[in-house]
Amino acid sequence: MTASRLRPFGTTIFSEMSALAARTGAINLGQGFPDTDGPAQIMAAVETAMRGGQANQYAPIAGVPELCAAIAEHQRRHYGLEVDPHDGVQVTFGATEAIAATMLGLLEPGDEVVVIEPFYDSYAATIALAGATRRLVTLRPPDFALDLDALAAAAPGARMLVLNSPHNPTGRVLTRDELDGVARVCVEHDLVTVTDEVYEHLAYDGEHIPLATLPGMAQRTLTISSAAKSFSFTGWKVGWCSGPPQLVAGVRAAKQFLSYSGGTPLQVAVAGALADAERHVAPLREAVRAGRDRLCEGLLAAGLHVSVPQGGYFANADVAALGVTDAREWCRALPDRAGVVAIPTSAFYGHPEVGRTLVRFAFCKRPEVIDEAVDRLLRAGAAAVG
Ligand code: PMP
Ligand code: GLN
Repeated sequence: MTASRLRPFGTTIFSEMSALAARTGAINLGQGFPDTDGPAQIMAAVETAMRGGQANQYAPIAGVPELCAAIAEHQRRHYGLEVDPHDGVQVTFGATEAIAATMLGLLEPGDEVVVIEPFYDSYAATIALAGATRRLVTLRPPDFALDLDALAAAAPGARMLVLNSPHNPTGRVLTRDELDGVARVCVEHDLVTVTDEVYEHLAYDGEHIPLATLPGMAQRTLTISSAAKSFSFTGWKVGWCSGPPQLVAGVRAAKQFLSYSGGTPLQVAVAGALADAERHVAPLREAVRAGRDRLCEGLLAAGLHVSVPQGGYFANADVAALGVTDAREWCRALPDRAGVVAIPTSAFYGHPEVGRTLVRFAFCKRPEVIDEAVDRLLRAGAAAVG
């Protein structure tokens, strides 16, 4: 008896495809998670925190003070953003909880939210949970450029805009010109702006520019991030948001009734990691960039048309050139045909027809795993075309 608000969302595509990978033994280039652990030093810090005896109970609702301070300091050091470590930061159970608490804590039923499609699936579900509705602005293959006219047309009367860069699933890193255009629209229409920057340290071409750094934006922007992608600990679920205290207060008001607070030793370890973020993320960025190049070359060799991503974990291939008309069916058959799991990009579109022949492949994997997946796709050849 699932509530009607949630019924349209079913089971997430990530769960479906990872279950398919587990059942068939296929290589999982579907769900975005690294297949190597993050830095051992950060893992060791969890144990130290646990054994210290101070970190095994609930954390303060905002998050452990050293993590709140490290987040504020990270925003200052990397982006020149001034954030209050007490009232301007909220630690959450992953970016996913930050997104949910943002929608539940800041939106009124009936509010409208501008969302760029394709989008990370939890945006739509949590907007619906809040009783709000979405207005879509579409990124189209092969370049997935942001249509600023369409954005301006969608904005009047809306309450919030959600932006994600580096972007899942396209890998776009929005340019300064695009972000300037977004900022103009947000200021003109007085939108609350929520930016999902979980891939902030994984920009390979172009620079990651937080929207909050643009003129007029700091006072209206809630910035969400997470330890998942920056340090390769997706299972730890340590996320956060930062921004003006009046926005953070709404998030906190909702978050206290979602999970209250916890993951205390993980929070302590992430505080240490963030304080030294660049040392940890620089080698990771190089490794994932190499994975991108390896995968994209391999997919091209397998005859797929690939949009080379500028950031993040994922590359999209258009399988229309192979004669495929429905990538969802193609992806469902791929594990048996080729021993590889990938995700149909249409799952991220509110208008699935736009991404009908696109397939998302994750490249946050070891080189030998990417090579084996590409070999399997090549070997399956026409059979994989289906
Ligand atoms: N936003 C985007 C764009 C993501 O790709 C993900 C998941 N990887 C999340 C949010 C959720 O992050 P977390 O695992 O920290 O909840
Ligand atoms: N963000 C990851 C992806 O896009 C998955 C997260 C999840 O499974 N919810 O693959």
